[in-house]
Amino acid sequence: MRSKRASCHSSAGKHESRKIMSHKKPTPILGEHNAKICPVCGKRSYSAGGIHPQCAVQQADAPREAQLKAKKKAEAKKTPVVKKLPQTWTKKICPNCGVQTHVRKRICDCGFDFFKS
Ligand SMILES: [Zn+2]
Ligand SMILES: [Zn+2]
Repeated sequence: MRSKRASCHSSAGKHESRKIMSHKKPTPILGEHNAKICPVCGKRSYSAGGIHPQCAVQQADAPREAQLKAKKKAEAKKTPVVKKLPQTWTKKICPNCGVQTHVRKRICDCGFDFFKS
């Protein structure tokens, strides 16, 4: 005596689809022609809009981020940035021996007198 409940339970089809899903990843070359370039990250995107969902979120945030950056830049401009002069201003080269000496030094180690020349 067989139960009718067993026949309406079609779990056999599920088994089949699992087998198909386990095949290797599709080669990127196949879908390359219909792939779009994401305008945000510049990478290939297979999404409908040609833009990665996470990139779309990033793009929505971009104006705010740019504003923040601009604000930071403006603030940085306010404070006068003293351009660091090259270190050489504290040094001078002795024409006699070619060794760098401190600009305040009067006489080089070699005996050359800067103030005399
Ligand atoms: Zn992207
Ligand atoms: Zn010298």
